[in-house]
Amino acid sequence: MKDRLIGIVSRGGSILAKWMLVHRKQNPMYELFDDICDIMREWDVSFSLGDGLRPGGLADATDDAQLRELDTLGELTERAWAKGCQVMVEGPGHVPFDQIEFNMKLERRLCHGAPFYVLGPLVTDVFPGYDHITSCIGATAAAYHGASMLCYVTPKEHLGLPKRDDVKQGCVAYKIAAHAADVALGIPAARDRDDELTKARAALNWERHFELSFDPDLARAFHDEDLDVDTDFCAMCGHDWCSVRISKEIQEFASGKAPEYAVERAKRTPGLTAEQRAILEQRGVLSPEEIHRLASKTRDAVGAQPGAKASCHSDYVDDAEAARRQREAVNAPASRG
Ligand code: SF4
Repeated sequence: MKDRLIGIVSRGGSILAKWMLVHRKQNPMYELFDDICDIMREWDVSFSLGDGLRPGGLADATDDAQLRELDTLGELTERAWAKGCQVMVEGPGHVPFDQIEFNMKLERRLCHGAPFYVLGPLVTDVFPGYDHITSCIGATAAAYHGASMLCYVTPKEHLGLPKRDDVKQGCVAYKIAAHAADVALGIPAARDRDDELTKARAALNWERHFELSFDPDLARAFHDEDLDVDTDFCAMCGHDWCSVRISKEIQEFASGKAPEYAVERAKRTPGLTAEQRAILEQRGVLSPEEIHRLASKTRDAVGAQPGAKASCHSDYVDDAEAARRQREAVNAPASRG
């Protein structure tokens, strides 16, 4: 590994390498491997074959040192199995995206399908502070190509000791990676929750949307930061431009509910009220109470109860009235205002 940019980045690997150089002896873990297996077998312990020579930067990935060690890990896997021990094999931490598939497949071949667990891998080195993201991209690819377990990385990786929120961010990033790979691999039922959430999203059912979210509290807080009322749109595009709401209308037309409305023409809508403009202009500054006071759609909420749906909510559309208006619109002379 003398040609590497960053040498040995494994703690155990660096300590053992220094011990071997100082004492001019083989790695004692290697020499005593059969004895170690006997102890593990006696106490029924599964253990990990570490990768002391894993790459610590993209430039060192898939180099001779890493691959020679992987070959030895394959040998040790067989020796452990011969002793009746279960083992898993530790995998690399920094690998360019295009080399991940090769690394996963090579490990499976050299280690005879033993479970492989990976530390990321990070797919770029220039985002310290965001390495939960750089590594979960690699972890998704690794899981898709056969990794059995993902070892999470926090935003503090390479920089310091992770604190509570760093651990949360790292764990969430890796739940995403693992789930994305499960879905891509077509594991039965892996996508069911995604599909249920998509249905709730399409129905603009916010409560169900939050309930199915991996982090409901965060999803609800983000939604309510701008608009903590149950409307059939959100603050991202607003009522008039909400594609999901419009799409619901299209589906209703397509279902045959309003066949004469099939030929639509461009028409001018009343657009935003002055109060709505004020809300949008001051977004992020207004308190929820001020938003409620200004929001004309909320002010006219059906039942006017706290949490009641705004009067424009699709649930309150009167089919007969909608059909009448559609007929009027179809029969009215074309106008682009
Ligand atoms: S307003 Fe935009 S972001 Fe919000 S639900 Fe509708 S389409 Fe989606």
